[in-house]
Amino acid sequence: MSETTSFQVRDGILDGARQVPSPNYNQRPEHTEIQLLVVHNISLPPSQFGGGYIEQFFQNQLDWSQHPYFQSIEGMQVSAHLLILRSGEVLQFVNFKDRAWHAGRSSYLGQKECNDYSIGIELEGSDDLPFDEAQYQALAAVTACLQQAYPKIQQHLAGHSDIAPGRKTDPGPFFDWPKFRAELHHFKNK
Ligand SMILES: [Zn+2]
Repeated sequence: MSETTSFQVRDGILDGARQVPSPNYNQRPEHTEIQLLVVHNISLPPSQFGGGYIEQFFQNQLDWSQHPYFQSIEGMQVSAHLLILRSGEVLQFVNFKDRAWHAGRSSYLGQKECNDYSIGIELEGSDDLPFDEAQYQALAAVTACLQQAYPKIQQHLAGHSDIAPGRKTDPGPFFDWPKFRAELHHFKNK
């Protein structure tokens, strides 16, 4: 088993993650506590991995002419706090104290605008391919760390499809929630 990076949250920054600042964020509403973790998948072009296009997209630096699909997302300004690549490498785009733009129109337990009070984690992946073992390991390690820093999210893990049903399908049928929860349990009891 390869050694897993150890993570730590300091001042909204995840030590152990590569910092790739995105301009796509704003302030959370005043006195808003982080209460929810939202899991997504993304790949650019869809179902193709590598290439660095997601990073470019979240940084508003994607060259829309490079692929026909990119034209369908041209000009969109989005972000997530974290992205976990196929290798398990973790990238941070937005400070946890700030509001990333990942959820869109959404609602969780009757509370709208999930971006206001959630942390968004993208897995490099798609709705029609399995995720990599390294991604589950990294996601579990990061989640355990975030739950320590932001205790309210301990009971509140959701997929994008849970908070925007009918509109979003990610993280999709290949995301194995029981496996994720088992790995998370393992990390928390280390
Ligand atoms: Zn999503």
